[in-house]
Amino acid sequence: MNASDCIFCKIASGEIPSHRVLETGDVVAFLDVSPLAPGHTLLIPKSHCESILDAPAAVVRLLSVELPGLARSIMRATGATGLNVLQNTGRSSGQAVFHLHIHLIPRRDGDGLGYRWNAGSYAGGEAEAMLSKIVGELRD
Ligand code: 5GP
Ligand code: ZN
Repeated sequence: MNASDCIFCKIASGEIPSHRVLETGDVVAFLDVSPLAPGHTLLIPKSHCESILDAPAAVVRLLSVELPGLARSIMRATGATGLNVLQNTGRSSGQAVFHLHIHLIPRRDGDGLGYRWNAGSYAGGEAEAMLSKIVGELRD
């Protein structure tokens, strides 16, 4: 997607209004328009990239720096007893807006949110085979 067609670039620039929780020179956090829970917030870089796959490490660092304080503020403000930090990468993961964003979703016991966490297991040797494949793909 071209940055000029990107809804989150337009939110970052102010062309599309949003309820801004936080703004620095490099990042913006704003309330999700369709929250999974009140206080559901999106943290984005002002510069356009699609996901963590094409984001420069420096951009991810700028987002990370804001995460702890933002998480604490959202929890205090909402009275949440938990919080999910979620980043969807790619259509298969549920990504719908292709401008990197991190969801901060306030949680409480019994709120009915959550994944179907169908945990599996590795048969003999499969974990080691997977490990060597991933480590073989690591780049700096
Ligand atoms: P994704 O599925 O891509 O990880 O999440 C995209 C999120 O962006 C969704 O939760 C959706 O509600 C939110 N969203 C989409 N368009 C807008 C918008 O124009 N304004 C705001 N504040 N949130 C949006
Ligand atoms: Zn964008």
